[in-house]
Amino acid sequence: MHLDTALVQFESAPGDPHRPSSTPIYQTATFEQASALECGAYDYTRSGNPTRAALEAQLARIEGARRAFAFTSGMAAVAALVRTLPAGARILAGSDLYGGTVRLLERSLPRSGIGVDTADASDLDALRSALRPETRLVLVESPTNPLLEIADLSGVAEIARAHGALLAVDGSLMSPLLQRPLELGAHVVAHSATKHLAGHGDVMAGVLATNDEALAAELAFAQNAEGAGLAPFDCWLVLRGLETLAVRLERAQRNAARLAEMLDGHPAVTRVRYPGLAGHPGALLHARQARGAGSVLAFETGCAERSRRVVESTRLFRIAVSFGGAASRISLPGRMSHASLAPGSERARRLPPDLVRVAAGLEDADDLVEDLARALEAAVRSAPVRRLGAT
Ligand SMILES: *Cc1c(COP(=O)(O)O)cnc(C)c1O
Repeated sequence: MHLDTALVQFESAPGDPHRPSSTPIYQTATFEQASALECGAYDYTRSGNPTRAALEAQLARIEGARRAFAFTSGMAAVAALVRTLPAGARILAGSDLYGGTVRLLERSLPRSGIGVDTADASDLDALRSALRPETRLVLVESPTNPLLEIADLSGVAEIARAHGALLAVDGSLMSPLLQRPLELGAHVVAHSATKHLAGHGDVMAGVLATNDEALAAELAFAQNAEGAGLAPFDCWLVLRGLETLAVRLERAQRNAARLAEMLDGHPAVTRVRYPGLAGHPGALLHARQARGAGSVLAFETGCAERSRRVVESTRLFRIAVSFGGAASRISLPGRMSHASLAPGSERARRLPPDLVRVAAGLEDADDLVEDLARALEAAVRSAPVRRLGAT
């Protein structure tokens, strides 16, 4: 069965005698027991809930995983994963990662005695030489957010496995529809389901999916022990979003490709980052390990002030973080989603101050292209280009 079909054809309410087409929202904290000594499939929603079970089964199915777990946000999912590591362990993290993940790794984890090393995940030699004896987990994105860099996921998986470490891939930008990291050798995939999977910008949710039974047992334990499992209504919203993932992503991706093409030929744009463009250094590699370039792209103008004006001159692109929603968004990662990077740090230095991130939505492509082109013209008129770093 193709994934598009699997997204809409699934067991929405296993065991329900009324056979509802939509999964019922089991909005309950507890489930009665038959007796003091007998317990049914569910007893308390923190430990398990039928709406969450339906979502997790569907997530596992589309990810090609044995088990999937739904959490209250993408960060809660990543946090549950990294907390399975013992004190003294180290994580090797890609040098370009979602800003919230960097905050968790660099500012929260050291308190639990877990160290973090960093390497450019698109450079396998750099990654290999950054491993330490204590490295237990390698965590990467591909494409990365927001620089859209590509890592050879099979190559990274080989390096991690040879070292006896787990490979975790944050697949939020791609969704399982475009890339399935477990098939490329990753041990676990994380998603911010807030983005493409739920797809309407109205719920926070996160996912972990794995084929590793030992890891799955630890994650199930953590989900119950720490209480970060996704609430029934939010599970239902994600389930509903998943049904339209294929058509949404197809449209958003087509819009992103059209925007990338326009930007690529625009005189006010110094660089476009979109793995669907032939000129992207990781384009061929990405095409080998993914089924599309996705809905997110980034570009530079050579001038931070001009980039700010572009962002503020669009009419159809909302100035908002996130992606994967119905409406298109535009942002300055250095000032918004990645503003928490430590000033002067290597990660902050790698982030161009004039970087604009565009998350294509579901509008008509011509309208989006026209609006962004007009915003570029307006920015050029109002902010003649200035050397980067000049004030
Ligand atoms: C948004 C995002 C996250 C965090 O997910 P939340 O649902 O916002 O907690 C993690 N990784 C990536 C790549 C993201 O884009």
